[in-house]
Amino acid sequence: MSCYLCRAEPRARYMGYYCEKCKRIQDTIAIYGDRVYEVVENVLMRTPDKQEHKIKDEIKKEIETKEHNLRSKKKGHIKRGKEVELTE
Ligand SMILES: [Zn+2]
Repeated sequence: MSCYLCRAEPRARYMGYYCEKCKRIQDTIAIYGDRVYEVVENVLMRTPDKQEHKIKDEIKKEIETKEHNLRSKKKGHIKRGKEVELTE
């Protein structure tokens, strides 16, 4: 019996619907939710040259967000440190 999603690979388990690869996709969707569909739409459904540009763009956005979060956390630590010093 073939997988319900890709319809190419055999199902991983007799009672299951998906193959090993598609089960992994299912797990990824469970973790990242709509982000998976966004990446597929925005990155894969493009011509190769546009894909390259989009991949860089998407990665850049994620790196900027992570850097911002790191900066915010560091600021929080410094503030807390100062507050501790003032109260002592
Ligand atoms: Zn499959």
